[in-house]
Amino acid sequence: MELKLLKREDLPTDIITVSPSQLSMWYRCKYAWKLAKIDGVGREEFKTIGAANKGLIFHAFCQWYYDSAKGRAVGQLSELGQMKALEFVQRAHGTDADFYRVFTIFLAYTEWCAKNENFLAIGAEVETFAPTGLTSVDGRPIYLHGFIDLIATLFDKLFVTDHKSHTNKRWTRSRLYYDHQFVFYWLLLELQGISVDGACVNAANLFIPKSEKDFHTQFTVNSKTKERVPRFERFLLSHKEVKLQFYLDQFLSNIKEMWCRPDPVYTMRLGADCEYCTFRDHIELEAKGMGEGALVTLRARHNTEDFNLIDDEGEVA
Ligand code: SF4
Repeated sequence: MELKLLKREDLPTDIITVSPSQLSMWYRCKYAWKLAKIDGVGREEFKTIGAANKGLIFHAFCQWYYDSAKGRAVGQLSELGQMKALEFVQRAHGTDADFYRVFTIFLAYTEWCAKNENFLAIGAEVETFAPTGLTSVDGRPIYLHGFIDLIATLFDKLFVTDHKSHTNKRWTRSRLYYDHQFVFYWLLLELQGISVDGACVNAANLFIPKSEKDFHTQFTVNSKTKERVPRFERFLLSHKEVKLQFYLDQFLSNIKEMWCRPDPVYTMRLGADCEYCTFRDHIELEAKGMGEGALVTLRARHNTEDFNLIDDEGEVA
């Protein structure tokens, strides 16, 4: 199956794009969104650590794995395949403390896939755009934009897949109910007129165990009860379970607030989590009553080589 998807070169150069991460930022703090998107203050690119770092590495292994097996079943990797996967992920992430451990879990994933995976990949990390029908306050067309983790077929049905990872809190159907990422992927295709049959979430537990035998597809969570849990779980979600129209309405209503009829009062989060926001120095500057000067200082501080401008999907612009 071949899909004709909208690419950047098919679109006018002045479009506005909205990605899942841009929506997340908006939901988290409208003021942070305004600093990044309206005021052009660069976001700092942190080196991820802990579960987030492991997740990115695992995600990259999955990208290589499915992309290298387009149109055929995936399975366990040969030594050459393992070397190629290592090379691919190393190029993007280097070899830090998590790298080989996540690789070991990835090999367990390929064992699991050899028994359980029926998807035939069409493409991994597929970048595409979808028209929203909305126009910004300055007359520019607005598109949804994303990199779909995996587009694949299962017995001739079309699925969008989101790879998710965690280190202690298992993904469940009810937790997925509040996750907008795979719904966004689904809508990216539907709004281009491509009918999707379902979504799939592949969840991997990237907990790094002490014992080597526990790197495998099942591992012990309680040494007393010897309870074992699956390391990899799959959730197939149909039209009935995913509230596509509800999410579409929510996305469009938030996009209108962002770009079509902006409310000049951008609500600040200013909660306990603010210490994690890379714009937190605006609090100190505004406390000094610097007004417009605070913005100039923020831009000067953040838009340097150390604080690269990052676009919607975390790519350095
Ligand atoms: S520090 Fe807090 S209030 Fe300020 S932009 Fe960041 S999240 Fe928003």
